[in-house]
Amino acid sequence: MASRGVLIGRFQPPHKGHVEVFKQILREVDELIVGIGGAQESHTLENPFTAGERMLMITRALAEAGVNLSRVHIIPIPDVNNNAIWVSHVISLSPPFSVVYSGNPLVKRLFKEAGFKTKTPPPFKRKEYWGTNIRDRMINGRRWENLVPKSVVEVMREINAVERMKDLSKTDYLLR
Ligand code: NAD
Repeated sequence: MASRGVLIGRFQPPHKGHVEVFKQILREVDELIVGIGGAQESHTLENPFTAGERMLMITRALAEAGVNLSRVHIIPIPDVNNNAIWVSHVISLSPPFSVVYSGNPLVKRLFKEAGFKTKTPPPFKRKEYWGTNIRDRMINGRRWENLVPKSVVEVMREINAVERMKDLSKTDYLLR
């Protein structure tokens, strides 16, 4: 039976740190499940990209990294307004898995309580490869392209991501 590990994240956006984690997990298990958390979210400063856009970015980034995509499953996971039932919600949406990879304390806590083995991936340049840092740079016209895979930059261009984020950061003129 194939061993499967899951990594759930917001991936707003997926960056080079995430890709290193994907590769690390695939060295340890047969198949990787990438859960796109907060799948219902988009078009906000914290969560600018839709689940479909994030899925496209992750698929392209994995292909760019030379990962065999038949070993990867990507699933959207909308949030639920009750942490105590989130793990069963994830299980109901995902292929079966035995290991949960996460650096997020809440995610680890919830899966541990449900009896899952959890592992913390090693940090890869956490201060640079960090969603908030990348989103801030995009809005403020600073260099961000070196922090995400080239294929992610291409998807960002296709969806006019920088323009979207700059628009999201504006204040309604009536409120100024
Ligand atoms: P994230 O995109 O910030 O990170 C995803 C994973 O990658 C995390 O485990 C993080 O530790 C790891 N990571 C990120 N950068 C890294 C780097 N440079 N080096 C090594 N590892 C790195 O996402 P997140 O905040 O962990 O996402 C958790 C998701 O779970 C959210 O979407 C949240 O909505 C969801 N969630 C939902 C509920 C609920 O619905 N009740 C409860 C808990 C969690």
